[in-house]
Amino acid sequence: MNDSLSIRFLGTGTLFPDPHRSCSATLLDLPRTRILIDIGAGTLRRMAEFGVAPESINYIFLTHFHPDHISDLAMLLFTLRNLRRPDAPAGPLCVWGPQGLFRFVQGLERSYGKWFQFEPEEVRFYELRRRLLDFPGFRVIWDKVLHTQESVGYRFEAAGRVMAFSGDSGYCQELIRLCAAADLAVIECSHADQHAVKGHLSPSLAAKIAQEAGVRKIVFNHFYPDVLQEDPLSVAAKYFGGDILLANDGDVIELDGGVSDEG
Ligand SMILES: [Zn+2]
Ligand SMILES: [Zn+2]
Repeated sequence: MNDSLSIRFLGTGTLFPDPHRSCSATLLDLPRTRILIDIGAGTLRRMAEFGVAPESINYIFLTHFHPDHISDLAMLLFTLRNLRRPDAPAGPLCVWGPQGLFRFVQGLERSYGKWFQFEPEEVRFYELRRRLLDFPGFRVIWDKVLHTQESVGYRFEAAGRVMAFSGDSGYCQELIRLCAAADLAVIECSHADQHAVKGHLSPSLAAKIAQEAGVRKIVFNHFYPDVLQEDPLSVAAKYFGGDILLANDGDVIELDGGVSDEG
């Protein structure tokens, strides 16, 4: 972690098993703060692969409770409980998520018992209520998006930059507002236009959202196999005039620079 702003894609895939794409997880490094957006299956393995220490995460923001976005949460907490080093950074891991997070965590507590009990100085859970959340050095705005009943998208504002994350979502005004004038929007692009599914985006719909929101650069992620067979970049370019990238696991985007492939 350093003082620059960067995004590292730990998982750009879906529930569809793919040797090259882990389930959803994106690391957002802000000055002095490390944030994980979603923690789907395989995230811990990707973290190990890319040198991201489990105890280096300060916050997790969950978009919804589908397993491809949340199922390594229990694994991360189990790891922290057992492997936290004496020299690990002070301060708890703060896990934020939509309404239903407390119920989800209680279910894990019932299943795992003493293996899933944490002191407040270790882990804290918060359900989203206020739409605007102020943290030291950054702020977060969230809104409901079109997927499951609880699903949310996020807008992060830090160091004069705006980064938006759709989570899983269909086309909706809430997501356009979250992405308004963003420097970078990470938008799901699940299926090709001809296979579009309600509650998910296709290249043309994702690009329209970015265009209407006035986003500078979009990065697509959350790919089912069909969408990558249809050249999503050229489809999206018909609807969006800015930069478009397809994320791969391991890609790093510096907010002031380009994309680099370290994966
Ligand atoms: Zn998903
Ligand atoms: Zn989902």
